[in-house]
Amino acid sequence: MKLVVKFGGTSISSAQKIRDVAKYLHSLSKKNQIITVCSAVSGVTDDLIEISKLIQKGNKDQANKLTKKIIQKYNQLAKDSIKKSQNRKKLLDKLDSVSVELEELLHGMILLGEVTPRSLDYLISFGERLSINLIAFTLLDLGSKSIPLTGKEIGIVTDSNFGEARPLMDTTRIRVSKTTEPLLAKKIIPIVGGFSGADQHGSITTFGRGGSDYTATTIASCINADEIWLMSDVDGLMTADPKIVKNAKVLNEVSYVEAIEMALFGAKQIHPRTFEPLLSKKIPMRIRNTFNTENLGTYVTASPDIATKKTVKCVSAIRNNGLIDVRGGSMVGAPGTAAKIFSTLAEVGVNIMMISQSPSESSISIVVKKTDLDKAVSALEMNLLGKIIKKLEVTTDVSIIALIGSGMRGTVGVASRVFAAVEKKGVNVVMIAQGSSELNIAFVVKDSGCQSVVQALHDEFELAKIN
Ligand code: ASP
Ligand code: MG
Repeated sequence: MKLVVKFGGTSISSAQKIRDVAKYLHSLSKKNQIITVCSAVSGVTDDLIEISKLIQKGNKDQANKLTKKIIQKYNQLAKDSIKKSQNRKKLLDKLDSVSVELEELLHGMILLGEVTPRSLDYLISFGERLSINLIAFTLLDLGSKSIPLTGKEIGIVTDSNFGEARPLMDTTRIRVSKTTEPLLAKKIIPIVGGFSGADQHGSITTFGRGGSDYTATTIASCINADEIWLMSDVDGLMTADPKIVKNAKVLNEVSYVEAIEMALFGAKQIHPRTFEPLLSKKIPMRIRNTFNTENLGTYVTASPDIATKKTVKCVSAIRNNGLIDVRGGSMVGAPGTAAKIFSTLAEVGVNIMMISQSPSESSISIVVKKTDLDKAVSALEMNLLGKIIKKLEVTTDVSIIALIGSGMRGTVGVASRVFAAVEKKGVNVVMIAQGSSELNIAFVVKDSGCQSVVQALHDEFELAKIN
């Protein structure tokens, strides 16, 4: 098989794990052609973002210190991952040259005292740039042929939308095939840094947090892979969060659309655009656990087996949000009211997670992250209160609960089963939304009722027996 295998940051966070990953790839490569994509070691991208904040604050010493800490971390991993001294030396030299570039960039940014979207992307791409060398040289140490490549080097060309870039697929397809075909033919395993590419001027761009998934699917589409595997530290997509529901199960198979919904609802963190490159070629994905490779994980496919089509497949909860209820008589029949409310929130950078409006048009309910709540409320108060809004009511600590499953489409009576189960728990439903896709039903309850409701719904739809 032609495979793209992507490892998240937690899969390579210690020397032992790095060696295990390399051993796994070594044996996998005997029967398959593989391209590996890897993330930064866990925590490193966060640290790089922190460095950019320190630069903005003019805190030069702390910025330098944190940069040294990252370099130190990779050097230590390098020393502990490699057995043969000549390989270790080669790896340390390679890490050195990347680290020098990182330090030069840092000094430049400190001198200017500013962080532009372009310099930020350049800076935060370094986690992956360092990681690829760890894996590639550990493979070398095990006797496999392997080559580290950054997103730019493999040929991922993007637009110049720094921080949220998108690959220009036609150019990328040509370049990626050109780089990888001769390598695969010679049985050399490319180890590609996720998360970033470069625009047409050669400036490094990133895809947004979690973007290594997106790199992996982009490459899979370019090389017409047979499958793509996302390896992380969970067994797959689950029927519920196992921290909330003890008997939650790993789902054997879901459709792309279901996986997209599950990713949105945070059941497992997947970059939101991950599935885009797979859709036209219908390349199947497996979501698997690096630390439990016996398990085949969740199979995500365009055309799931009929037997796996269930009304509801997953109950997920997004906890710790705030609800704002916006009221006012002058909102009724006044076109543009909702637009004003939403643009006011957009201007202060608040992301809206859920909305509903009553048909009487006299109230709109909005759910935002708890961390955005104060910002959202004061923006609405300052700009709109007393004008189109008469009253704002705020509820803190609410949870969004969502049921996901493509079998809900056109099935009568799902909502009544859902709300009867909630009622039995004596929990009050604050707000409800169902998209017209009918792939999910989402509603809001006070956080104190979240756990019992999720468990009750998991029981109601017998999700513990799903596969
Ligand atoms: N290292 C990047 C991040 O932490 C990309 C990724 O892990 O997928 O967001
Ligand atoms: Mg990650």
